[in-house]
Amino acid sequence: MKKVEDYIRSIPDFPEEGIIFRDVTSILQEADGLHLAIDEMIKLLDGVDFDVIAGAESRGFIFGVPIAYALNKPFVPVRKAGKLPCATVSKTYDLEYGSATIEMHKDSIKPGQKVVLVDDLIATGGTIEAAAQLVEELGGEVVKIVFLMELAGLHGRDKLAKYDVASVVTYE
Ligand code: 5GP
Repeated sequence: MKKVEDYIRSIPDFPEEGIIFRDVTSILQEADGLHLAIDEMIKLLDGVDFDVIAGAESRGFIFGVPIAYALNKPFVPVRKAGKLPCATVSKTYDLEYGSATIEMHKDSIKPGQKVVLVDDLIATGGTIEAAAQLVEELGGEVVKIVFLMELAGLHGRDKLAKYDVASVVTYE
């Protein structure tokens, strides 16, 4: 039986020298890989009581939507700045070089809603930390954060110490 990690392609020196990029397109292009990845992420939500899944653009959409569909929950996109048409809240966070801004519609999360955040991968944790802060700004409660992959050596979990975090595949 193949495992999720068997479907992940590792690309050296992308997007720059010294980085090993964990590629999800090699999972998606195999029907069995896609099924397995979604099923394993869903297992991490076993017993979790929640109302909404929110996913970060763009690979968080790829994995978040099928999970929301399978569990019959709504999906909320966390988008890069300037993409959402209605009133938004936004958060700017640091990247290795420079910064990025993400946004959510103000009415996407109702106060008191329990939210699961989904992304394909945690590196430094900056993206998902910013997303969690936006959810909280809207009055939501982040009850779980689920990743397909975790780059443990970058210690992204340290930023997320107050959250319940789980990932399917961990790279040291
Ligand atoms: P962080 O904010 O945790 O430093 O970076 C995580 C974000 O960068 C995620 O949205 C993820 O999609 C993207 N990312 C960073 N490194 C990789 C990688 O090696 N593979 C993939 N698939 N995404 C990555």
